[in-house]
Amino acid sequence: MMNRRDMLKLAGIATASTVITGCTASTNSAEPTKMATKGGILGSEAPLPKNGTKQRVVVVGGGWSGLSVAKRLKKFIPDLDVVLIEQRAHFVSCPISNLWLVGAVDLEFLTHSYLDAAVNNGYTFFNATVHNVDKKAKIVYTNEGTVNYDYLVLAPGIDYDYEAWTKGDTQLEYELRTKYPAGFKSHSEHQTIKEKVENFESGNFIVTVPGGNYRCLPGPYERACLIAGYFKENGIEGKVIILDENPGITIKKKGFSTAFNELYKDYIVYVPNAKIESFDLKNKKVETEFDEYKFADASFYPRIRANKLIEAIGVAKDAINKGEANIDPFTYQVKGEPYIFCSGDVRPMAFSKSGNTSNSEGHVVARVIANRILGKKDEWVSPHTTCYSAVAVTPKISAISVNADYAWNKTNHAFGFANASTMEEWHGKSGINGGKGLIEWANGMYRDMFM
Ligand SMILES: Cc1cc2nc3c(=O)[nH]c(=O)nc-3n(C[C@H](O)[C@H](O)[C@H](O)COP(=O)(O)OP(=O)(O)OC[C@H]3O[C@@H](n4cnc5c(N)ncnc54)[C@H](O)[C@@H]3O)c2cc1C
Repeated sequence: MMNRRDMLKLAGIATASTVITGCTASTNSAEPTKMATKGGILGSEAPLPKNGTKQRVVVVGGGWSGLSVAKRLKKFIPDLDVVLIEQRAHFVSCPISNLWLVGAVDLEFLTHSYLDAAVNNGYTFFNATVHNVDKKAKIVYTNEGTVNYDYLVLAPGIDYDYEAWTKGDTQLEYELRTKYPAGFKSHSEHQTIKEKVENFESGNFIVTVPGGNYRCLPGPYERACLIAGYFKENGIEGKVIILDENPGITIKKKGFSTAFNELYKDYIVYVPNAKIESFDLKNKKVETEFDEYKFADASFYPRIRANKLIEAIGVAKDAINKGEANIDPFTYQVKGEPYIFCSGDVRPMAFSKSGNTSNSEGHVVARVIANRILGKKDEWVSPHTTCYSAVAVTPKISAISVNADYAWNKTNHAFGFANASTMEEWHGKSGINGGKGLIEWANGMYRDMFM
């Protein structure tokens, strides 16, 4: 029997194949042994030429950034042929998923239709996984066929980087990924963590905070608060141990530390400078430089890197910095590739790896490309970060927040926060207003991407 996912996938392909003239759906593309190797690039059939004179922009990755790029491109140049290639059949939001984890919102609130987004905004949704790109011939290779482009935007997000923990031990990495998922990428991981929380009986539940510019700085602290709140509310004798690789809480420090101390005194143990040195999964123990921690269950969030697709396509910095896209930080253009751009968490700049930042950056990247096509001059505009974090869901959702732009520091040649402000008061009315702000923010973002 065909399920909803299969139907969406078919619908996506049908939409695409009726509209994408430059895309062939190969019948044998799902069988790797039959894949033709063309110029060292794995692909399916030879691409069909693009039809007509319209310029085509192909956007890879329908997340917070790619959706924003695709929509804005059509706003800037309505006549443009825009194709969004996304491997998932439907969108499930990472932001707000911590609230869903503890039953404070329904899954419907997180789930949105790519087909609606494409129809509402006049672009094409192509449900496929990108394997590679022929940069010279301007062809994208997917498991469903090939797509020609004039301009290409890569917005595939992040990948986990377990190396610092596993040091090449693939069995350990496999077990960490499958049994103790980080929950900062796919909805399957969120589902697994939700089941862990709901079935938790007693003992320590470990969550980790990675070093580096990891995705969603407040996310692990928010999750720790909400899991602790769930234990407290349901009389579960559990402690959430936060092993933080950093010397202190990385963002909204006052708001989170007061919540740990006042709301979750008996439920949260916060440990800074706690980089895990070794795992003993059989005996459910981890060791940091200073201590050993036993756990009943856990969600281990490793360091992150740019999605491996950028490496496969050959737009990563170099063999050492292969987890960083090689782009101009002001134009988002891949260095030496005038027709390829990167957007969202895949970027190497030290912006917050957040949905709001990636979405606002999508507006910027779309404008840069539109101006290139129209032959207009462009000026750099800062992306914007608005980030709410819930610290409790009962009696009502209470949240804290941060707002910031970015500015270029000429001395150290890097971006830093500018015009930053925080609201870290979660007690009483302020927190409840923050909670309302959080839900309104999410609704606004979903409208921006899907309507
Ligand atoms: C639990 C959690 C809570 C968060 N909370 C917040 C919050 O409160 N506020 C906030 O602003 N941000 C939050 N974030 C961060 C936010 O989700 C990310 O920063 C944002 O999703 C980044 O957008 P992106 O478009 O770069 O990547 P993504 O949204 O990850 O999108 C990348 C897309 O590319 C697709 N893709 C990847 N490879 C391929 C391929 N080869 N072919 C085709 N498609 C491909 C993926 O399927 C995915 O849909 C949270 C994240 C998590 C996990």
